[in-house]
Amino acid sequence: MEKRPFNELGLSPELLKAVDKMGFEEASPIQTAVIPHGLAGKDVVGQSATGSGKTAAFAIPAIEKVDVKLRAVQVLVLCPTRELAVQVAEEFGKLAFFKKGLMEVPIYGGQSYERQFRALHAGAQVVIGTPGRVMDHMARGTLKLDALKVVVLDEADRMLDMGFRDDIEHILKAVPEQRQCLFFSATMPRAIQDLIKRYTRDPAWVRIEAHAQNAPQVEQIYFEVDRRSKIELLTRLVDYHDFRYGIIFCSTKIMVDELDEHLHARGYSTDRLHGDITQAQRTRVMDKFRRRGFEFLVATDVAARGLDVDDLEVVFNFDLPNDAEDYTHRVGRTGRAGRKGMAFTFVAGRELYKLQNMIHYGRLKIRRENIPSMDEVEEARGNVFFERLRATLEEKKFKSHDEMFGRLMEQGHTSTDIASALIHLLQGQEAEAAKPAKAAPTKTKAERIAANEAPKTVSSGGPVSRPAAAGREASPPTITEHPKGFSSGDRFAAQKRSFDRKPRTGREPGFTTVSFNVGRAQLITPADLVGKIAGVTRLPANVVGAIDIHEEHTLVDVATEHAELVMAKLAGIRIKNQSLKPALVPPAANY
Ligand code: ADP
Ligand code: MG
Repeated sequence: MEKRPFNELGLSPELLKAVDKMGFEEASPIQTAVIPHGLAGKDVVGQSATGSGKTAAFAIPAIEKVDVKLRAVQVLVLCPTRELAVQVAEEFGKLAFFKKGLMEVPIYGGQSYERQFRALHAGAQVVIGTPGRVMDHMARGTLKLDALKVVVLDEADRMLDMGFRDDIEHILKAVPEQRQCLFFSATMPRAIQDLIKRYTRDPAWVRIEAHAQNAPQVEQIYFEVDRRSKIELLTRLVDYHDFRYGIIFCSTKIMVDELDEHLHARGYSTDRLHGDITQAQRTRVMDKFRRRGFEFLVATDVAARGLDVDDLEVVFNFDLPNDAEDYTHRVGRTGRAGRKGMAFTFVAGRELYKLQNMIHYGRLKIRRENIPSMDEVEEARGNVFFERLRATLEEKKFKSHDEMFGRLMEQGHTSTDIASALIHLLQGQEAEAAKPAKAAPTKTKAERIAANEAPKTVSSGGPVSRPAAAGREASPPTITEHPKGFSSGDRFAAQKRSFDRKPRTGREPGFTTVSFNVGRAQLITPADLVGKIAGVTRLPANVVGAIDIHEEHTLVDVATEHAELVMAKLAGIRIKNQSLKPALVPPAANY
């Protein structure tokens, strides 16, 4: 696959300076192939994997075409999602850094029209938008396209999947005849080929093979696993490899919610993305993830598509993707920029045949492995502890405790004995903490202490900060109650152990009683409910007061100020196969 230096592609000095400033050493294959056609004014159809650098491939020629003296829209980029529009706009901004007078603006649903209108009115030459909002602005007359020179469709297949076909056609019909069309799509289904036929003229086709692009950098492994044991396997792998940054893909919104809650309950730092999450919230989650404000993003394909994050350590296919293309898209998010990444795919039951098909027809390179045993996890964990201890010593990143040491030595203890006793204490604390979930295959408290690291839970902050520590405390050890194939693992078992709810003794001041339609008959425990409430609302544990479990229902005292939210959020949530119907219990009611 050919790659060339940018200075052989015919760029202006401004653009060359910009790519240099961005740290790009050479043009990627898709850029090498697309940019010269783009500069020559040709229509282009480009097909390549996620992460291959398509944005700059169209942005560079588009920027070169802009006449900055003309304060009118000359480039229009259509993107499937708001996040992508923002990312693409940022990339335009960086690439046009030295091209003075160029203005770009992302326009998308969810942001005020006013703000977008001002930017358009100010004379932005480059508009990057989602089809719906672009149409709205066209209809309002706030977006005029008569000076348009270049139109770009980014992730065209995804836009069609999202139902934007009519909008796209409407827009393409409205742009001037004499414009250049750059068309990008990961896949080329018939509908896309139709669009290409109708709206491009004799395009140059550029196709960069996906598997050759991604595979060598990513170690790809699949496991056959019982459906119920997927979470256990996931946490085991995370602990075994000590991963700290990755995406976990699920096939449905419900699965995303459930898994996020489960992982959260087990003390992992996670957040989620799917189609039902509000735009504002999504942006916050993405920003936070990019800043590494939490460790694992649980997401559906649609929500994560186009999310530009570098250097993920790992991608989990918790559920199998639909086809080889989606697989490549997901896996392409790790192993970027020359780093080695890992991708794990879980298959349950008959999914194995589907995966084998994908491997065969998509020419994927995924090998099968056995699930790591507890012993192996323990051993890896021991190694992690050893490595951290060593690093701590080598980097001298600890305070000295000469006085305490001196006193112990005076009493006749050797330094090796003192160190051994400390390790014993650290590990003993953990063993104690891990009851009843013995031999938790997780990062031990001892390791966190050795790494001089506070439990991650307390550190989370920022706009989407979950009530971390408290939320975790509330996390119930529900996992131990499920008939899982493995023993359970909890990073913060100690906190959980102290989790002990008193039975409901009457309403405390400031609390409102909510009745839930589950009880002893469903084998509900207080922990189940508190866990659900904390997981779903992200409120701290102390918003829940006393809990009183009856045969068919449970009374839960909730801080009055949050009662409404708790009821709204929990309505319809499933617990023990029952859909929750919370109801307010009037103060005088007697159950
Ligand atoms: P795609 O749209 O194909 O998924 P992007 O355009 O989002 O890929 O690029 C992925 C990442 O690679 C971005 O962080 C981008 O800044 C970076 N990138 C793009 N081109 C180059 C290059 N020539 N050299 C190094 N990094 C690049
Ligand atoms: Mg892209």
